[in-house]
Amino acid sequence: MECASVWSPLFTYWDFNTWCFGSWASLFLPSLSTKSVPGGKAIHPSIIYVLTKVSILLSVLVGGPRVFVWVCLRPGDGKMPPKSKRKEADEGDTLTRIAIVNNDRCKPKRCRQECKKSCPVVRMGKLCIEVSPNSKIANISEELCIGCGICVKKCPFDAINIINLPSNLEKETTHRYSANSFKLHRLPVPRPGVVLGLVGTNGIGKSTALKILAGKQKPNLGRFSEPPDWTEILAYFRGSELQNYFTKLLEDDLKPVLKPQYVDQIPRAVKGSVQSLLDKKDEMKNQDEICQVLDLMRVKTRNVDELSGGELQRFAIALVCIQKADIFMFDEPSSYLDVKQRLNAARAIRNLMLPHTYVIVVEHDLAVLDYLSDYVCCLYGVPGAYGVVTLPSSVREGINIFLDGFVPTENLRFRDESLVFKVSETATSEEVKRMTRYDYPLMGKTMGSFK
Ligand code: SF4
Ligand code: SF4
Repeated sequence: MECASVWSPLFTYWDFNTWCFGSWASLFLPSLSTKSVPGGKAIHPSIIYVLTKVSILLSVLVGGPRVFVWVCLRPGDGKMPPKSKRKEADEGDTLTRIAIVNNDRCKPKRCRQECKKSCPVVRMGKLCIEVSPNSKIANISEELCIGCGICVKKCPFDAINIINLPSNLEKETTHRYSANSFKLHRLPVPRPGVVLGLVGTNGIGKSTALKILAGKQKPNLGRFSEPPDWTEILAYFRGSELQNYFTKLLEDDLKPVLKPQYVDQIPRAVKGSVQSLLDKKDEMKNQDEICQVLDLMRVKTRNVDELSGGELQRFAIALVCIQKADIFMFDEPSSYLDVKQRLNAARAIRNLMLPHTYVIVVEHDLAVLDYLSDYVCCLYGVPGAYGVVTLPSSVREGINIFLDGFVPTENLRFRDESLVFKVSETATSEEVKRMTRYDYPLMGKTMGSFK
């Protein structure tokens, strides 16, 4: 219990039988008095002793047991105990906050800065929200914010999101792009010679984690204004497998290759025929084998901008598989592919596994993830706001964590409902007919020589 009143009661004794005990307890354990009233000063035990004796004498003189109440008052300073002490006391249930301000939606020139005007902390005179008509974007102080959510409701453009986080996550921030933007907590742990699968919804930090593990994004440990150097980053990961990984990445110059998530943007980035581009990257001299597995032989003569989504996906996977590298990363390799192509792609990816290579795959298709991975890390959080990576688990366990929405090792539920698949094995053809809502007529599309 904390006491912030100006006058704090230090000792209260009542009842003939108990005040004797209380006074003696205080005599021998004077520190009790300060513990019961944090911030209070103990009265010297000898004074308590004298007062106790006087009260005994009085009770005997007046005759018989009766109620005596002593309330010793001390002048307080009217202040709360220091913040650090309060923090320690509340360690278990303190919440930290993430305030996200959407860059595209926040338009201080077109609103009346309702967020700032309605914020109770600003009204108390503190700079919790800083914005003026000339600002580019509102700036919210996560330290001052009390998480009331008023600004979220008042903003006419729906630009603010305030999210409460468990306090222990604060120490595990791996990266934050800027103030009031997405935050990633922890990192997946890659191991050589095995395939690491990552699963989680979109916008939860999978691609950010891949960029960091590829060495393309330096983790700033949440300090976007003063990013730490690599010495500090390595010290932060000291004692974990990630320390070895990053040390190797920096010292041994591990070469990473990444298959990007958005393959439809490949034609904008590269020009030329499929054959010429494959020839340029064919460091392993296994181009034909990979093209056979991924069914790319027919499209080799075509230009990249003439490929369909599935062909672009297979082409992107092939480009990664034919390069000499130490870290292979695939961001959603099965989108645009049919079931057979997904399995072929998974086979090509698993063939990359060597005792010294790292293979990391982000995958939404749980069947493919199950086939591909040797162990799994789940990502949970709020899309676009924050993401948390779970500790590595076996494939079965990892997929079950994702489906259940519950992390048993952390005793944490990140989704209200579990995802359950109901399989109807006994449906008759009549039932199938009755329950079918759509019929798809035969359709065809021709693109050049592709049908
Ligand atoms: S957050 Fe909303 S109310 Fe605040 S400045 Fe931006 S647009 Fe205006
Ligand atoms: S949620 Fe935070 S920033 Fe928004 S009004 Fe409340 S205290 Fe102010």
